[in-house]
Amino acid sequence: MDKRLLILLIFVGVIFCGSGGYLLWQHFHQPEGQRTVEVVQDNKVLYTFVYPTVEEKTIRIESPDGTSWNEVRLHDGTICMSDACCPDLTCVHTGDLQYEDLPIVCLPNTLVIRFAGEESP
Ligand SMILES: [Zn+2]
Repeated sequence: MDKRLLILLIFVGVIFCGSGGYLLWQHFHQPEGQRTVEVVQDNKVLYTFVYPTVEEKTIRIESPDGTSWNEVRLHDGTICMSDACCPDLTCVHTGDLQYEDLPIVCLPNTLVIRFAGEESP
């Protein structure tokens, strides 16, 4: 086979696989349509943000009885738990919110950062 034809075939193959992968990625991530991130404490929505976030700020959230607190940080289009008073710090170690099925959860402080469910019109 002609070497140049082979290179062309590989090139086309890579583009084809790449776009296929991108479509698959798009299907699972659904970037079209705005998403909402909500910060929930004791099943009460305290804050909602458009995702990707546009602001750069840190919000301190205290529990109603004032015994515990978490710091929620909006940065670089995403959101994370930057600090907390909980003993395990699982929420902080979760890092940035990225996946629908992986919310940031602080069990001791009953605080959750998650994507809002699909709202029916
Ligand atoms: Zn925590």
